[in-house]
Amino acid sequence: NIYGDRQNSLGRDYSQAADRERHAKALERVDSEKLTSGPIIGGKLKAGVNPQDVTNPFDRSQVLGHVSEASVEDVDAAVNAAANAQVAWDRIGGSGRAPILRAMADALEADMDRLVALLSREAGKTLNDGVAEVREAADFCRYYALLAERDFGGAQTLKGPTGETNHLILHGRGVFAAISPWNFPLAIFTGQIAAALAAGNAVVAKPAEQTPLIAAEAVRLFYKAGLNPELLALVPGRGEIVGAALTAHSGIDGVAFTGGTDTASAINRGLAARPGAIIPFIAETGGLNAMFVDTTALKEQVIDDVILSAFGSAGQRCSALRILYAPREAADALIDGLKGALATQVIGDPTDPKTDIGPVIDAESRANLEAHVERLSKDAKIVARAELAPGSDKGDLFAPTIAEIPTPDFLEREVFGPILHVYRYDSKDLKSVAAKLAARGYGLTLGVHSRIEAFADEVVRLVPAGNVYVNRSIIGAVVGVQPFGGEGLSGTGPKAGGPNSLIRYAAEKAISVNI
Ligand code: GLU
Repeated sequence: NIYGDRQNSLGRDYSQAADRERHAKALERVDSEKLTSGPIIGGKLKAGVNPQDVTNPFDRSQVLGHVSEASVEDVDAAVNAAANAQVAWDRIGGSGRAPILRAMADALEADMDRLVALLSREAGKTLNDGVAEVREAADFCRYYALLAERDFGGAQTLKGPTGETNHLILHGRGVFAAISPWNFPLAIFTGQIAAALAAGNAVVAKPAEQTPLIAAEAVRLFYKAGLNPELLALVPGRGEIVGAALTAHSGIDGVAFTGGTDTASAINRGLAARPGAIIPFIAETGGLNAMFVDTTALKEQVIDDVILSAFGSAGQRCSALRILYAPREAADALIDGLKGALATQVIGDPTDPKTDIGPVIDAESRANLEAHVERLSKDAKIVARAELAPGSDKGDLFAPTIAEIPTPDFLEREVFGPILHVYRYDSKDLKSVAAKLAARGYGLTLGVHSRIEAFADEVVRLVPAGNVYVNRSIIGAVVGVQPFGGEGLSGTGPKAGGPNSLIRYAAEKAISVNI
Protein backbone atom coordinates (compact mmCIF):
# COMPACT_ATOMS: atom_id res chain seq x y z
CA ASN A 1 0.00 0.00 0.00
CA ILE A 2 1.85 3.08 -1.23
CA TYR A 3 -0.50 5.43 0.61
CA GLY A 4 -0.17 3.61 3.91
CA ASP A 5 0.13 5.92 6.88
CA ARG A 6 2.89 7.96 5.24
CA GLN A 7 2.44 11.68 5.79
CA ASN A 8 4.13 14.49 3.98
CA SER A 9 6.61 16.48 6.02
CA LEU A 10 5.56 19.49 8.11
CA GLY A 11 7.07 22.96 7.82
CA ARG A 12 7.75 26.22 9.66
CA ASP A 13 5.66 29.32 10.25
CA TYR A 14 7.77 32.47 10.11
CA SER A 15 4.91 34.61 11.35
CA GLN A 16 5.68 32.99 14.72
CA ALA A 17 8.49 34.51 16.78
CA ALA A 18 9.77 31.08 17.86
CA ASP A 19 10.31 29.97 14.27
CA ARG A 20 11.95 33.28 13.38
CA GLU A 21 14.33 32.92 16.31
CA ARG A 22 15.29 29.41 15.33
CA HIS A 23 15.94 30.71 11.84
CA ALA A 24 18.15 33.56 13.09
CA LYS A 25 20.23 31.14 15.17
CA ALA A 26 20.58 28.72 12.28
CA LEU A 27 21.69 31.53 10.02
CA GLU A 28 24.36 32.60 12.50
CA ARG A 29 25.60 29.06 12.66
CA VAL A 30 25.77 28.64 8.88
CA ASP A 31 27.61 31.96 8.58
CA SER A 32 30.23 30.94 11.09
CA GLU A 33 30.65 27.32 9.99
CA LYS A 34 32.54 27.90 6.71
CA LEU A 35 31.52 24.56 5.30
CA THR A 36 33.72 22.43 3.09
CA SER A 37 32.70 20.43 0.08
CA GLY A 38 34.72 18.30 -2.28
CA PRO A 39 34.94 14.75 -3.47
CA ILE A 40 33.54 12.44 -0.79
CA ILE A 41 34.43 8.82 -1.44
CA GLY A 42 33.84 5.95 0.95
CA GLY A 43 32.70 8.54 3.49
CA LYS A 44 35.97 10.52 3.34
CA LEU A 45 36.45 14.04 2.08
CA LYS A 46 39.32 14.03 -0.44
CA ALA A 47 41.59 16.92 -1.34
CA GLY A 48 40.32 17.17 -4.91
CA VAL A 49 41.59 19.80 -7.34
CA ASN A 50 40.91 23.41 -8.27
CA PRO A 51 39.77 24.72 -4.82
CA GLN A 52 37.32 27.64 -4.89
CA ASP A 53 35.24 29.86 -2.63
CA VAL A 54 31.51 29.38 -2.52
CA THR A 55 29.74 32.73 -2.24
CA ASN A 56 26.27 34.07 -1.52
CA PRO A 57 24.27 35.06 -4.66
CA PHE A 58 22.63 37.92 -2.77
CA ASP A 59 25.95 39.33 -1.58
CA ARG A 60 29.00 38.10 -3.45
CA SER A 61 31.37 39.45 -0.82
CA GLN A 62 30.19 36.78 1.61
CA VAL A 63 32.23 33.59 1.42
CA LEU A 64 30.16 30.67 2.74
CA GLY A 65 32.73 27.95 2.44
CA HIS A 66 34.97 26.14 0.02
CA VAL A 67 34.76 23.43 -2.57
CA SER A 68 37.31 21.49 -4.52
CA GLU A 69 36.56 19.65 -7.71
CA ALA A 70 36.76 15.88 -8.13
CA SER A 71 39.66 14.76 -10.32
CA VAL A 72 39.22 12.07 -12.96
CA GLU A 73 40.95 9.67 -10.53
CA ASP A 74 38.42 10.60 -7.84
CA VAL A 75 35.57 9.80 -10.21
CA ASP A 76 37.15 6.46 -10.98
CA ALA A 77 37.64 5.63 -7.30
CA ALA A 78 34.06 6.68 -6.51
CA VAL A 79 32.53 4.46 -9.20
CA ASN A 80 34.65 1.46 -8.20
CA ALA A 81 33.82 1.76 -4.50
CA ALA A 82 30.13 2.10 -5.33
CA ALA A 83 30.16 -0.96 -7.60
CA ASN A 84 31.72 -3.10 -4.85
CA ALA A 85 29.14 -2.14 -2.26
CA GLN A 86 26.10 -2.34 -4.55
CA VAL A 87 25.76 -6.14 -4.66
CA ALA A 88 25.00 -6.54 -0.96
CA TRP A 89 22.71 -3.51 -0.95
CA ASP A 90 20.68 -4.97 -3.80
CA ARG A 91 20.43 -8.28 -2.01
CA ILE A 92 18.85 -6.94 1.19
CA GLY A 93 15.75 -5.98 -0.80
CA GLY A 94 13.35 -3.09 -0.39
CA SER A 95 12.47 -3.87 3.21
CA GLY A 96 16.16 -3.79 4.14
CA ARG A 97 16.70 -0.46 2.39
CA ALA A 98 13.54 1.38 3.44
CA PRO A 99 14.58 2.04 7.08
CA ILE A 100 17.70 3.91 5.92
CA LEU A 101 15.62 6.14 3.65
CA ARG A 102 13.18 6.85 6.46
CA ALA A 103 16.06 7.65 8.78
CA MET A 104 17.33 10.10 6.13
CA ALA A 105 13.91 11.80 6.07
CA ASP A 106 14.04 12.13 9.86
CA ALA A 107 17.60 13.48 9.71
CA LEU A 108 16.58 16.11 7.14
CA GLU A 109 13.70 17.26 9.31
CA ALA A 110 15.83 17.33 12.43
CA ASP A 111 18.29 19.63 10.61
CA MET A 112 15.61 21.72 8.89
CA ASP A 113 16.53 25.16 10.24
CA ARG A 114 20.18 24.85 9.32
CA LEU A 115 19.38 23.44 5.88
CA VAL A 116 16.92 26.27 5.21
CA ALA A 117 19.55 28.82 6.20
CA LEU A 118 22.10 27.18 3.94
CA LEU A 119 19.63 27.00 1.04
CA SER A 120 19.05 30.73 1.41
CA ARG A 121 22.73 31.56 1.59
CA GLU A 122 24.03 29.25 -1.11
CA ALA A 123 21.09 29.06 -3.54
CA GLY A 124 19.25 32.32 -2.82
CA LYS A 125 16.10 30.52 -1.69
CA THR A 126 13.47 32.41 0.27
CA LEU A 127 12.67 30.88 3.64
CA ASN A 128 9.38 29.41 2.51
CA ASP A 129 11.04 27.92 -0.55
CA GLY A 130 13.79 26.51 1.65
CA VAL A 131 11.29 24.90 4.00
CA ALA A 132 9.36 23.47 1.05
CA GLU A 133 12.58 22.06 -0.30
CA VAL A 134 13.61 20.30 2.91
CA ARG A 135 10.11 18.88 3.20
CA GLU A 136 10.20 17.67 -0.40
CA ALA A 137 13.56 15.98 0.14
CA ALA A 138 12.16 14.18 3.19
CA ASP A 139 9.00 13.26 1.28
CA PHE A 140 11.02 11.72 -1.55
CA CYS A 141 12.87 9.53 0.95
CA ARG A 142 9.72 8.31 2.69
CA TYR A 143 7.79 7.83 -0.53
CA TYR A 144 10.57 5.85 -2.21
CA ALA A 145 10.93 3.77 0.95
CA LEU A 146 7.32 2.68 0.44
CA LEU A 147 7.92 1.94 -3.22
CA ALA A 148 11.02 -0.07 -2.32
CA GLU A 149 8.94 -2.18 0.05
CA ARG A 150 6.15 -2.53 -2.50
CA ASP A 151 8.20 -3.42 -5.55
CA PHE A 152 11.47 -4.88 -4.28
CA GLY A 153 10.08 -7.22 -1.68
CA GLY A 154 10.12 -10.48 -3.58
CA ALA A 155 8.68 -11.95 -6.72
CA GLN A 156 5.44 -11.03 -8.41
CA THR A 157 3.66 -14.23 -9.49
CA LEU A 158 2.43 -14.29 -13.08
CA LYS A 159 -0.10 -16.67 -14.49
CA GLY A 160 1.24 -19.22 -16.94
CA PRO A 161 0.46 -22.69 -18.26
CA THR A 162 0.00 -25.63 -15.92
CA GLY A 163 3.30 -27.18 -14.93
CA GLU A 164 5.24 -23.92 -14.99
CA THR A 165 5.77 -21.16 -12.42
CA ASN A 166 6.39 -17.62 -13.61
CA HIS A 167 7.77 -14.84 -11.49
CA LEU A 168 8.89 -11.30 -12.09
CA ILE A 169 11.46 -9.65 -9.87
CA LEU A 170 12.94 -6.16 -9.85
CA HIS A 171 16.52 -5.51 -8.89
CA GLY A 172 19.05 -2.69 -8.97
CA ARG A 173 21.04 -2.06 -12.14
CA GLY A 174 24.35 -1.28 -10.48
CA VAL A 175 25.89 2.19 -10.12
CA PHE A 176 23.82 5.23 -11.02
CA ALA A 177 25.27 8.61 -11.88
CA ALA A 178 22.97 11.28 -10.42
CA ILE A 179 23.47 14.74 -11.90
CA SER A 180 21.37 17.42 -10.28
CA PRO A 181 20.57 21.13 -10.70
CA TRP A 182 21.17 24.18 -8.51
CA ASN A 183 17.52 25.21 -8.45
CA PHE A 184 16.56 22.35 -6.12
CA PRO A 185 20.00 21.60 -4.71
CA LEU A 186 18.58 19.59 -1.82
CA ALA A 187 15.23 18.16 -2.97
CA ILE A 188 16.22 16.98 -6.44
CA PHE A 189 19.72 16.03 -5.29
CA THR A 190 18.24 13.88 -2.50
CA GLY A 191 15.33 12.64 -4.62
CA GLN A 192 17.53 11.21 -7.37
CA ILE A 193 19.79 9.52 -4.84
CA ALA A 194 16.87 8.16 -2.81
CA ALA A 195 15.22 6.74 -5.94
CA ALA A 196 18.39 5.05 -7.14
CA LEU A 197 19.16 3.67 -3.68
CA ALA A 198 15.60 2.49 -3.11
CA ALA A 199 15.80 0.44 -6.29
CA GLY A 200 18.98 -1.27 -5.13
CA ASN A 201 21.66 0.83 -6.80
CA ALA A 202 24.75 2.57 -5.51
CA VAL A 203 25.14 6.23 -6.47
CA VAL A 204 27.83 8.64 -7.56
CA ALA A 205 26.29 12.10 -7.34
CA LYS A 206 27.49 15.20 -9.14
CA PRO A 207 25.86 18.31 -7.69
CA ALA A 208 25.49 21.56 -9.62
CA GLU A 209 28.63 23.71 -9.62
CA GLN A 210 26.78 26.53 -7.85
CA THR A 211 25.56 24.46 -4.87
CA PRO A 212 28.22 22.03 -3.64
CA LEU A 213 27.88 22.84 0.08
CA ILE A 214 24.27 21.80 0.53
CA ALA A 215 25.04 18.65 -1.49
CA ALA A 216 27.88 17.69 0.86
CA GLU A 217 25.57 18.26 3.83
CA ALA A 218 22.95 15.97 2.30
CA VAL A 219 25.55 13.26 1.72
CA ARG A 220 26.69 13.55 5.35
CA LEU A 221 23.07 13.20 6.47
CA PHE A 222 22.68 10.01 4.41
CA TYR A 223 25.70 8.60 6.26
CA LYS A 224 24.28 9.75 9.57
CA ALA A 225 21.07 7.94 8.66
CA GLY A 226 23.07 4.73 8.50
CA LEU A 227 23.86 4.39 4.80
CA ASN A 228 27.06 2.48 4.08
CA PRO A 229 29.31 5.31 2.84
CA GLU A 230 30.59 3.14 -0.01
CA LEU A 231 27.12 3.29 -1.54
CA LEU A 232 27.10 7.05 -2.06
CA ALA A 233 29.93 9.23 -3.33
CA LEU A 234 29.96 12.95 -4.13
CA VAL A 235 31.97 14.28 -7.07
CA PRO A 236 31.57 18.07 -7.33
CA GLY A 237 32.83 20.01 -10.32
CA ARG A 238 32.10 21.33 -13.76
CA GLY A 239 29.77 19.42 -16.04
CA GLU A 240 32.18 19.45 -18.96
CA ILE A 241 34.88 17.83 -16.87
CA VAL A 242 33.49 15.90 -13.92
CA GLY A 243 30.04 15.23 -15.41
CA ALA A 244 31.65 14.10 -18.64
CA ALA A 245 34.14 11.82 -16.85
CA LEU A 246 31.33 10.31 -14.80
CA THR A 247 28.92 9.58 -17.65
CA ALA A 248 31.79 8.21 -19.77
CA HIS A 249 32.92 5.83 -17.01
CA SER A 250 32.49 2.18 -17.99
CA GLY A 251 31.32 1.29 -14.46
CA ILE A 252 28.16 3.44 -14.68
CA ASP A 253 24.95 1.46 -15.28
CA GLY A 254 22.45 4.33 -15.52
CA VAL A 255 22.24 8.11 -15.48
CA ALA A 256 19.63 10.30 -13.81
CA PHE A 257 19.85 13.93 -14.87
CA THR A 258 17.85 17.05 -14.07
CA GLY A 259 18.84 20.29 -15.76
CA GLY A 260 18.76 22.00 -19.13
CA THR A 261 17.51 20.38 -22.32
CA ASP A 262 20.79 21.05 -24.15
CA THR A 263 22.86 19.34 -21.45
CA ALA A 264 20.47 16.39 -21.49
CA SER A 265 20.97 16.04 -25.25
CA ALA A 266 24.74 16.23 -24.86
CA ILE A 267 24.75 13.52 -22.16
CA ASN A 268 22.44 11.38 -24.25
CA ARG A 269 24.74 11.67 -27.28
CA GLY A 270 27.73 10.75 -25.14
CA LEU A 271 25.96 7.71 -23.71
CA ALA A 272 24.90 6.58 -27.17
CA ALA A 273 28.51 6.77 -28.37
CA ARG A 274 29.84 4.62 -25.52
CA PRO A 275 31.10 1.34 -26.88
CA GLY A 276 29.78 -1.83 -25.31
CA ALA A 277 27.04 -0.23 -23.22
CA ILE A 278 23.37 0.60 -23.55
CA ILE A 279 22.23 2.18 -20.33
CA PRO A 280 19.08 3.96 -19.21
CA PHE A 281 19.02 7.74 -19.23
CA ILE A 282 16.43 9.45 -17.05
CA ALA A 283 16.18 13.16 -17.88
CA GLU A 284 14.03 15.88 -16.39
CA THR A 285 14.61 19.12 -18.26
CA GLY A 286 13.02 22.47 -19.06
CA GLY A 287 9.66 23.68 -20.27
CA LEU A 288 7.95 26.47 -22.18
CA ASN A 289 5.19 26.42 -19.64
CA ALA A 290 1.97 28.21 -20.45
CA MET A 291 -1.26 29.16 -18.79
CA PHE A 292 -4.41 29.63 -20.86
CA VAL A 293 -7.05 31.89 -19.39
CA ASP A 294 -10.55 32.41 -20.78
CA THR A 295 -13.14 35.10 -20.09
CA THR A 296 -14.87 33.03 -17.40
CA ALA A 297 -11.76 32.90 -15.20
CA LEU A 298 -11.75 34.71 -11.85
CA LYS A 299 -9.39 37.64 -12.32
CA GLU A 300 -8.04 37.91 -8.76
CA GLN A 301 -7.31 34.21 -8.61
CA VAL A 302 -5.56 34.30 -11.97
CA ILE A 303 -3.37 37.19 -10.83
CA ASP A 304 -2.40 35.45 -7.62
CA ASP A 305 -1.59 32.20 -9.36
CA VAL A 306 0.33 33.89 -12.18
CA ILE A 307 2.50 35.92 -9.80
CA LEU A 308 3.37 32.83 -7.79
CA SER A 309 3.92 30.64 -10.86
CA ALA A 310 6.06 33.14 -12.80
CA PHE A 311 7.97 34.93 -10.04
CA GLY A 312 7.98 32.52 -7.09
CA SER A 313 11.49 31.08 -6.55
CA ALA A 314 12.63 33.95 -8.84
CA GLY A 315 11.16 32.01 -11.76
CA GLN A 316 13.92 29.46 -11.35
CA ARG A 317 11.79 26.35 -11.44
CA CYS A 318 11.47 24.24 -14.52
CA SER A 319 7.74 24.23 -13.77
CA ALA A 320 7.55 28.06 -13.73
CA LEU A 321 5.10 29.95 -15.89
CA ARG A 322 6.72 31.51 -18.95
CA ILE A 323 3.78 32.49 -21.18
CA LEU A 324 0.34 33.67 -20.15
CA TYR A 325 -2.25 33.42 -22.92
CA ALA A 326 -4.85 36.04 -22.02
CA PRO A 327 -8.15 36.42 -23.88
CA ARG A 328 -8.27 39.69 -25.82
CA GLU A 329 -11.42 40.84 -23.93
CA ALA A 330 -9.81 40.44 -20.48
CA ALA A 331 -6.16 41.10 -21.26
CA ASP A 332 -5.99 44.79 -20.25
CA ALA A 333 -7.57 44.14 -16.87
CA LEU A 334 -5.33 41.16 -16.26
CA ILE A 335 -2.16 43.00 -17.19
CA ASP A 336 -3.14 45.93 -14.98
CA GLY A 337 -3.75 43.58 -12.10
CA LEU A 338 -0.44 41.81 -12.65
CA LYS A 339 1.43 45.13 -12.70
CA GLY A 340 -0.13 46.07 -9.38
CA ALA A 341 0.60 42.70 -7.84
CA LEU A 342 4.19 42.70 -9.06
CA ALA A 343 4.73 46.11 -7.45
CA THR A 344 3.86 44.62 -4.04
CA GLN A 345 6.44 41.84 -4.24
CA VAL A 346 9.40 42.25 -1.91
CA ILE A 347 12.62 41.57 -3.78
CA GLY A 348 15.79 41.26 -1.74
CA ASP A 349 17.63 39.27 0.88
CA PRO A 350 16.21 35.75 0.80
CA THR A 351 17.05 35.15 4.46
CA ASP A 352 14.58 37.86 5.48
CA PRO A 353 11.14 36.35 6.18
CA LYS A 354 9.51 39.31 4.38
CA THR A 355 11.20 38.60 1.06
CA ASP A 356 9.11 37.14 -1.77
CA ILE A 357 11.77 37.02 -4.49
CA GLY A 358 15.48 36.45 -3.93
CA PRO A 359 18.41 36.68 -6.34
CA VAL A 360 18.97 34.61 -9.46
CA ILE A 361 21.69 32.02 -9.16
CA ASP A 362 24.72 33.75 -10.67
CA ALA A 363 26.07 36.59 -12.77
CA GLU A 364 25.89 34.56 -15.95
CA SER A 365 22.23 33.83 -15.41
CA ARG A 366 21.54 37.50 -14.62
CA ALA A 367 23.36 38.60 -17.77
CA ASN A 368 21.36 36.15 -19.91
CA LEU A 369 18.13 37.43 -18.42
CA GLU A 370 19.16 41.06 -18.99
CA ALA A 371 20.00 40.20 -22.60
CA HIS A 372 16.55 38.68 -23.00
CA VAL A 373 14.94 41.84 -21.57
CA GLU A 374 16.93 43.81 -24.19
CA ARG A 375 15.43 41.66 -26.89
CA LEU A 376 11.96 42.07 -25.40
CA SER A 377 12.34 45.84 -25.35
CA LYS A 378 13.13 45.79 -29.08
CA ASP A 379 10.96 43.01 -30.48
CA ALA A 380 8.17 42.90 -27.89
CA LYS A 381 6.85 45.35 -25.30
CA ILE A 382 7.91 45.58 -21.67
CA VAL A 383 4.80 46.31 -19.64
CA ALA A 384 6.26 46.19 -16.12
CA ARG A 385 9.56 45.86 -14.34
CA ALA A 386 9.85 45.64 -10.60
CA GLU A 387 12.02 48.20 -8.84
CA LEU A 388 15.06 47.02 -6.97
CA ALA A 389 15.76 48.78 -3.70
CA PRO A 390 18.92 50.92 -3.52
CA GLY A 391 21.94 48.83 -2.52
CA SER A 392 20.66 45.78 -4.39
CA ASP A 393 23.78 45.44 -6.48
CA LYS A 394 25.92 43.38 -4.09
CA GLY A 395 24.92 40.18 -5.81
CA ASP A 396 22.65 38.83 -8.48
CA LEU A 397 19.23 40.32 -7.86
CA PHE A 398 17.30 40.70 -11.08
CA ALA A 399 14.22 42.88 -11.53
CA PRO A 400 11.21 40.67 -12.39
CA THR A 401 9.70 41.68 -15.70
CA ILE A 402 6.42 41.37 -17.58
CA ALA A 403 6.38 41.74 -21.35
CA GLU A 404 3.75 41.42 -24.06
CA ILE A 405 4.86 39.30 -26.98
CA PRO A 406 3.66 39.88 -30.54
CA THR A 407 3.33 36.24 -31.65
CA PRO A 408 2.20 33.11 -29.80
CA ASP A 409 5.51 31.36 -30.46
CA PHE A 410 7.83 34.33 -29.86
CA LEU A 411 9.80 32.25 -27.34
CA GLU A 412 11.80 29.52 -28.98
CA ARG A 413 13.24 28.15 -25.77
CA GLU A 414 13.01 28.29 -22.03
CA VAL A 415 14.20 31.53 -20.39
CA PHE A 416 15.06 30.54 -16.83
CA GLY A 417 14.16 33.36 -14.47
CA PRO A 418 11.48 35.84 -13.37
CA ILE A 419 10.25 37.05 -16.75
CA LEU A 420 6.59 36.60 -17.67
CA HIS A 421 5.50 36.83 -21.30
CA VAL A 422 1.89 37.67 -22.08
CA TYR A 423 0.18 36.98 -25.38
CA ARG A 424 -3.32 38.27 -26.19
CA TYR A 425 -5.28 35.73 -28.15
CA ASP A 426 -8.64 35.72 -29.89
CA SER A 427 -10.74 32.81 -28.75
CA LYS A 428 -11.42 31.84 -32.36
CA ASP A 429 -7.65 31.31 -32.76
CA LEU A 430 -7.18 29.06 -29.74
CA LYS A 431 -6.33 26.00 -31.83
CA SER A 432 -3.67 27.66 -33.96
CA VAL A 433 -2.15 29.52 -31.00
CA ALA A 434 -1.89 26.29 -29.01
CA ALA A 435 -0.51 24.42 -32.02
CA LYS A 436 2.29 26.97 -32.41
CA LEU A 437 3.25 26.57 -28.77
CA ALA A 438 3.05 22.78 -29.00
CA ALA A 439 5.31 22.83 -32.07
CA ARG A 440 8.18 24.04 -29.88
CA GLY A 441 8.35 20.48 -28.59
CA TYR A 442 8.31 20.98 -24.81
CA GLY A 443 5.78 19.38 -22.50
CA LEU A 444 6.27 20.09 -18.81
CA THR A 445 3.62 22.10 -16.95
CA LEU A 446 0.41 23.64 -18.25
CA GLY A 447 -2.13 25.85 -16.52
CA VAL A 448 -5.74 26.59 -17.38
CA HIS A 449 -7.96 29.15 -15.70
CA SER A 450 -11.59 28.79 -16.68
CA ARG A 451 -14.99 27.91 -15.25
CA ILE A 452 -15.80 25.90 -18.36
CA GLU A 453 -14.66 22.31 -18.29
CA ALA A 454 -14.79 21.95 -22.07
CA PHE A 455 -12.28 24.81 -22.42
CA ALA A 456 -9.86 23.15 -20.01
CA ASP A 457 -10.28 19.81 -21.78
CA GLU A 458 -9.55 21.38 -25.14
CA VAL A 459 -6.40 23.16 -23.94
CA VAL A 460 -5.16 19.95 -22.34
CA ARG A 461 -5.75 18.11 -25.64
CA LEU A 462 -3.89 20.75 -27.64
CA VAL A 463 -0.82 21.44 -25.48
CA PRO A 464 1.49 18.61 -24.40
CA ALA A 465 2.34 18.57 -20.69
CA GLY A 466 3.30 16.14 -17.98
CA ASN A 467 1.66 18.22 -15.24
CA VAL A 468 -1.61 20.05 -15.79
CA TYR A 469 -3.01 22.49 -13.24
CA VAL A 470 -6.53 23.88 -13.54
CA ASN A 471 -7.59 26.99 -11.60
CA ARG A 472 -4.46 27.08 -9.46
CA SER A 473 -0.75 27.84 -9.66
CA ILE A 474 1.42 25.59 -11.82
CA ILE A 475 4.40 25.15 -9.47
CA GLY A 476 5.15 23.18 -6.36
CA ALA A 477 4.33 19.59 -7.23
CA VAL A 478 3.97 17.58 -4.03
CA VAL A 479 5.49 14.11 -3.68
CA GLY A 480 2.86 11.40 -3.98
CA VAL A 481 0.22 13.97 -4.96
CA GLN A 482 1.45 15.46 -8.24
CA PRO A 483 4.10 13.12 -9.68
CA PHE A 484 6.36 15.53 -11.52
CA GLY A 485 7.95 15.39 -14.97
CA GLY A 486 7.31 16.06 -18.62
CA GLU A 487 7.44 14.74 -22.12
CA GLY A 488 9.09 15.70 -25.42
CA LEU A 489 11.96 18.14 -24.89
CA SER A 490 11.00 18.31 -21.21
CA GLY A 491 12.19 14.87 -20.28
CA THR A 492 12.03 11.11 -20.51
CA GLY A 493 10.15 10.20 -17.36
CA PRO A 494 9.53 8.40 -15.12
CA LYS A 495 8.07 11.18 -13.04
CA ALA A 496 9.57 12.03 -9.68
CA GLY A 497 7.42 11.34 -6.63
CA GLY A 498 4.94 9.04 -8.35
CA PRO A 499 4.00 5.38 -8.15
CA ASN A 500 6.17 4.51 -11.20
CA SER A 501 9.23 6.54 -10.18
CA LEU A 502 11.57 3.64 -9.56
CA ILE A 503 10.89 1.56 -12.60
CA ARG A 504 13.74 2.79 -14.80
CA TYR A 505 16.21 2.68 -11.94
CA ALA A 506 15.59 -1.07 -11.86
CA ALA A 507 16.09 -4.06 -14.10
CA GLU A 508 13.32 -6.64 -14.43
CA LYS A 509 13.90 -10.36 -14.47
CA ALA A 510 11.24 -12.91 -15.42
CA ILE A 511 11.90 -16.40 -14.12
CA SER A 512 9.98 -19.35 -15.54
CA VAL A 513 10.42 -22.79 -13.98
CA ASN A 514 9.14 -26.00 -15.47
CA ILE A 515 7.96 -28.06 -12.48
N1 GLU B 1 8.95 20.02 -8.86
C1 GLU B 1 9.08 21.44 -8.96
C2 GLU B 1 7.75 22.09 -9.08
O1 GLU B 1 6.75 21.42 -9.23
C3 GLU B 1 9.96 21.87 -10.09
C4 GLU B 1 11.23 21.09 -10.22
C5 GLU B 1 12.27 21.74 -11.08
O2 GLU B 1 12.31 22.96 -11.23
O3 GLU B 1 13.12 20.96 -11.59
O4 GLU B 1 7.67 23.28 -9.05
